[in-house]
Amino acid sequence: MCQCCGMPLEESILSQEPDGTPNVAYCQWCYTGGKFVYETQEALIDFLSHHLAHPQWPPEQVRAHLAQLLPQLDHWRDRGEE
Ligand SMILES: [Zn+2]
Repeated sequence: MCQCCGMPLEESILSQEPDGTPNVAYCQWCYTGGKFVYETQEALIDFLSHHLAHPQWPPEQVRAHLAQLLPQLDHWRDRGEE
């Protein structure tokens, strides 16, 4: 899974380094052009809670899920506590 947002990774959504090398740790939405898109977990959660939510999974539950999941992923663990 993507070590930034937790999305299951497939080849078609892998991120790339600026030279075109695939980066297998992150998806293309989290890491693009050699840079991370989201500065903070809050920014990522704000984005994902809108996009992942559906009638059976309301945004507040998505947020709660992500708030548990993200601190376990390498990208955020490396940064320590927010
Ligand atoms: Zn991602």
